[in-house]
Amino acid sequence: MPNRLRRMRRTDSLRALVRETHVQASDLIYPIFVREAQTEPEPIASMPGQSRLPVSMLAEEAKKIQGLGIGAVLLFGLPTHKDDRARSSGDPRGVVQKAIRAIKAATPNLVVMTDVCVCAYMTHGHCGVLNGHEVDNDATLPLLANMAISHAEAGADVVAPSAMMDQQVGAIRTALNQKGHHDTAIMAYSAKFSSAFYGPFREAADSAPSFGDRASYQHDYANARHARRELLQDVEEGADILMVKPGIAYLDIVLRARELSDLPIAAYAVSGEYSMIKAAAERGWLDEKKIVLETLTAFRRAGADLVITYHAKEAAAWLNNN
Ligand SMILES: [Zn+2]
Repeated sequence: MPNRLRRMRRTDSLRALVRETHVQASDLIYPIFVREAQTEPEPIASMPGQSRLPVSMLAEEAKKIQGLGIGAVLLFGLPTHKDDRARSSGDPRGVVQKAIRAIKAATPNLVVMTDVCVCAYMTHGHCGVLNGHEVDNDATLPLLANMAISHAEAGADVVAPSAMMDQQVGAIRTALNQKGHHDTAIMAYSAKFSSAFYGPFREAADSAPSFGDRASYQHDYANARHARRELLQDVEEGADILMVKPGIAYLDIVLRARELSDLPIAAYAVSGEYSMIKAAAERGWLDEKKIVLETLTAFRRAGADLVITYHAKEAAAWLNNN
């Protein structure tokens, strides 16, 4: 006899009873852009609702985020000083280091994650030290390790290397351990694809490369097996969380990551994904709340434990009121 699958979809309460995937505010991570030498929030034109914040506003912001039950924040710094060696990236009094201290002072229990990459600290905007027009992998590793140590010393719970240099996770793990930061975790941007979805972020973080692009170190978006190799390598190097970025066009990669490792998996719904939804919602073409909750559920269904999203505050409020 053919089965009647509609039987279990008949009412709201039956559907709730057999629902396979749930999203909670604690699954969400909210990215924050912090700008040095700024006293007022600075709206990001291509990301409506998002602003670059001064350090002085972070205590209040962190309390709001904690109040919404959001799992963590992920900090990106916009320093005043840039040079060709990213010298301000590991400064104990640098913008991110100050931001971590401000948040930990206001909300000691809020999990603080930090982006570890030098592009915003470099005059040329690339993710590593240049040798001619090439990014020098091995010369970049000590910079990333130094930056991660300074974040750990300021109180970061998790450092998230995003430069896509080979052996960056191993180099950071070794350096953290040598300095006694055995408890600082690493979220590895393992499957970070070279993507046009990052467009609005480059404006937000003031980190566009002055020449060329990042295709020589980020993954080719046509390659899934190559991303799998990087995920496996980061597991071996000691990652505590694996990340896939961007999110919505890369759910197949999230699923592969889920299948190959028992580590927590994070998916990053990047700036372009946020801006597309906002733009369509502003025109009344999409229902923002429904689209956001559907896409967050899709990330979780594909196997992501955590979702990094600019919609985290709105989504948390919607989820808490459901
Ligand atoms: Zn970078």
